[in-house]
Amino acid sequence: MAKMYYDQDADLNLLKGKKVAIIGYGIQGRGQALNLKDSGVDVVIGQRQPSPSFDQAVKDGFQPVTAAEAAEQADYIQILTQDHIQLEVYENEIKQHLSEGKGLIFSHGFNIHFGYIKAPENVDIFLVAPKGPGALVRSQYMEGKGVPCLIAVQQDFTGNAKQLALAHAKGIGGTRAGVIETTFKEETETDLFGEQAVLCGGTSELIRAGFETLVDAGYQPEIAYFECLHELKLITDAIFVSGIKGMHRRVSDTAEYGDYSRGRRIITEETRKEMKNILSEIQSGKFAEEWMNENKTDRSNYNKMRDRDDSHLIEKVGDELRKMMPWIQSSSGSQSALSVGKR
Ligand code: NDP
Ligand code: MG
Repeated sequence: MAKMYYDQDADLNLLKGKKVAIIGYGIQGRGQALNLKDSGVDVVIGQRQPSPSFDQAVKDGFQPVTAAEAAEQADYIQILTQDHIQLEVYENEIKQHLSEGKGLIFSHGFNIHFGYIKAPENVDIFLVAPKGPGALVRSQYMEGKGVPCLIAVQQDFTGNAKQLALAHAKGIGGTRAGVIETTFKEETETDLFGEQAVLCGGTSELIRAGFETLVDAGYQPEIAYFECLHELKLITDAIFVSGIKGMHRRVSDTAEYGDYSRGRRIITEETRKEMKNILSEIQSGKFAEEWMNENKTDRSNYNKMRDRDDSHLIEKVGDELRKMMPWIQSSSGSQSALSVGKR
């Protein structure tokens, strides 16, 4: 079993008298900045304007400055802009302020691991990645709890990088929940794989395929929506709390038998082979290159695919059905979802 680090393994004093710049007051930036501040850390926000994120930072009591100003003032610079613009922000606003002994912090290893950002050798480079969305990082902290975090050290110039990563994780509440050490390579590749194969890509397509099968067979779309999408939350909540095994104890015996006897016909050898292909594209850097190019060319494929999926019948049916279930908006699932910045 991987070693877990908790509050007693981390020393917030390492950040005393130091300043942490949070570059980008978006989903993660807001959660982490507010938690660090409440943990007694001196935080400066670097947020471009005009942006709803800038206004939010002001509303939250910060005095946001430009990324360059924040980077200049700070000892530790955490880059929390969108991944595809981190290189640009780094080159234009941060690099010149990275003097010896400073630290560069990330919450996703993409730009370091794939070699887009090349930092000098006389700084620390480490990662503190909450395994949850920024709004949850904040709400858990305020409840005296935390979101589990990964830490990783890419470059340890000061000899203190790991302890600093642990201190930062403590500042955002991560050590209350547990922190595991990883590498930039492992964090980046598994994070991309998880979202592509299982969490986002795999799940979305599974839902749509199930929905289409029922609708094509003549069943009402509203019923198909409930069976293939709405109830997924109940199942994943049960899995979250007690594992797949625990979920099996909570559904009917009939559902459990259907799972054992049919699940492997849905995720087949062919699916597993494709998962390996997807992983290879991530490992070789092919996916990263494709995504960076997409951003250089106005996201034409991205926008086309978004329009395609947004116009699917399941979205129309869902919009109507959710209007009839106003309680959904205030349920526990929605508060962990996206906050400022995301369309
Ligand atoms: P968001 O898109 O929510 O926020 C990015 C913020 O950076 C925006 O407020 C944006 O402003 C700002 N920004 C962009 N360019 C600049 C600039 N030049 N100077 C100052 N500010 C700028 O990003 P996320 O919080 O989703 O992601 C941040 C990082 O955290 C990424 O590395 C991501 O992989 C990682 N992460 C995210 C998680 C999440 O919960 N979303 C979970 C774990 C890790 P504007 O409004 O103008 O665009
Ligand atoms: Mg992830």
